[in-house]
Amino acid sequence: MSNSRPGSHIELHNNADKDYARQYSQDFVSRWDELIDWDKRSAGEGTFFTELLFSVGACSVLDVSTGSGFHAVQLRKAGFRVCANDGSQTMVDRAKINFARHKLNIPITCCDWLDLDPRKLGTFDAVLCLGSSLCHVFDEDERIAVLRRFHSLLRPSGVLVVDQRNFQAILEGNFRSSGRYYYCGTTARVTLGEVSESLCEFVYSFSDDETYRLRVAPIRPQQLRREISRAQFRGVKSFGDFKPMYDPMHSDFIIHVAHR
Ligand code: SAH
Repeated sequence: MSNSRPGSHIELHNNADKDYARQYSQDFVSRWDELIDWDKRSAGEGTFFTELLFSVGACSVLDVSTGSGFHAVQLRKAGFRVCANDGSQTMVDRAKINFARHKLNIPITCCDWLDLDPRKLGTFDAVLCLGSSLCHVFDEDERIAVLRRFHSLLRPSGVLVVDQRNFQAILEGNFRSSGRYYYCGTTARVTLGEVSESLCEFVYSFSDDETYRLRVAPIRPQQLRREISRAQFRGVKSFGDFKPMYDPMHSDFIIHVAHR
């Protein structure tokens, strides 16, 4: 009966988009490392994250959306004490394979952000939420609740690092995926599907014609900065493609750094 109510179709459609774990299907996840190309991604970001973490004296790091474990591995190798997490079991399984491949013993949990519990995990010098992950949360109040949860996982004066694709540029018709940052593989192309103020669809097309879609919330950088402040963080600083001075319309990713 409820399907015949006006608006119910929209609700169902939104609920499917909110189910982030379902969007990361087994097949898509099995190609994640091909999509990001670890060597090129590492060259693209250089020492940005390690220098940032060293500069604030961080030793322990919680990578809350580790995906296939790229940053957890880089940072463990750089000497940080790293714990990893992701809400998708498929991603967690992939990350475990990568940790073993790199002969690293990195603890990992499979937990939705709102279920991350500082009483169980402890607190950290840094919480990282990278790879344009937060845009999987469509509702603003829920995003602020998630950011508050990250806040509770930090030690006093700990640092939050959260990035997003440049949704300002995307919403203004200036989508750029230079292939130099984050998604650096040469066998996949990233294009846009449906785009509106409330939804942004990315289409990942591989050279063998396989296509995967991610549907997320297009959070503008200014909006995310406001939300980070509303979650009680201090002194939000932003970087475009890892640079403090950047062209806001010609950057692929915007990275925000804030303190507890
Ligand atoms: N950081 C990785 C993965 C980015 S993809 C990288 O840069 O390669 C986004 C990840 O966020 C996915 O693995 C997804 O499962 C995770 N994610 C999205 N919403 C989440 C939530 N509410 N709780 C936990 N993980 C979430």
